[in-house]
Amino acid sequence: MRIVLVGPPGAGKGTQAAFLAKNLSIPHISTGDLFRANISQGTELGKQAKAYMDAGNLVPDEVTIGMAKDRMSQPDAENGFLLDGFPRNVSQAEALDETLKTEGMKLDAVLDLEVPEDEVVKRIAGRRVCRKDSSHVFHVTYSPAKQEGVCDVCGGELYQRDDDSEETVRKRLEVYHTQTEPIIDYYRAQGLVVTISALGKVDEVTKRAMDALSRESA
Ligand code: AMP
Repeated sequence: MRIVLVGPPGAGKGTQAAFLAKNLSIPHISTGDLFRANISQGTELGKQAKAYMDAGNLVPDEVTIGMAKDRMSQPDAENGFLLDGFPRNVSQAEALDETLKTEGMKLDAVLDLEVPEDEVVKRIAGRRVCRKDSSHVFHVTYSPAKQEGVCDVCGGELYQRDDDSEETVRKRLEVYHTQTEPIIDYYRAQGLVVTISALGKVDEVTKRAMDALSRESA
């Protein structure tokens, strides 16, 4: 299956994507994770992306689209993938359509995770992510690690993302509304959008998502 996951920052895209990709045996491709990996490796691409990310803005399409295409062309993505955080505006969605079309492929579904805005701010302010594996996500109140600052799964260090500060979150939400939300209409016109509520426990949301995807592909 070829799936795009959309939703505001804090909707739990990364967490859900990790579970869904595992259940569906397809790679989880997160452009945010790819940028963060480039930043920690000190690459040129990472240097270009960092200032945009820290300000809560989108990294320019010239950088992002090439990086996403490159990842999608790896052998593990041949039979499907779950895109998390890409596309994030209509021109990226058009570029993705073009790329898939040249390969004779198409998307199967766009899963839209819905969550109220006040919940988003609460979720992000308390979010802590593992440095070793960013799919290991905790929350200081909702799902605290057993030992503060240490990942329960792999012992990695937990940290707060630079772009999870309240000011940057507000900017990211504004960017989401103005630039990313329009892709939902773009995909709705193609009959691909499945919307589910992202409220509740992680496993409940995963089940809701799996049910919605199997209805969509039935
Ligand atoms: P995420 O981990 O998906 O929340 O992404 C973190 C940050 O990476 C975003 O706020 C953007 O600055 C940047 N980013 C991730 N994906 C994209 C994309 N598709 N287009 C532009 N910027 C992106």
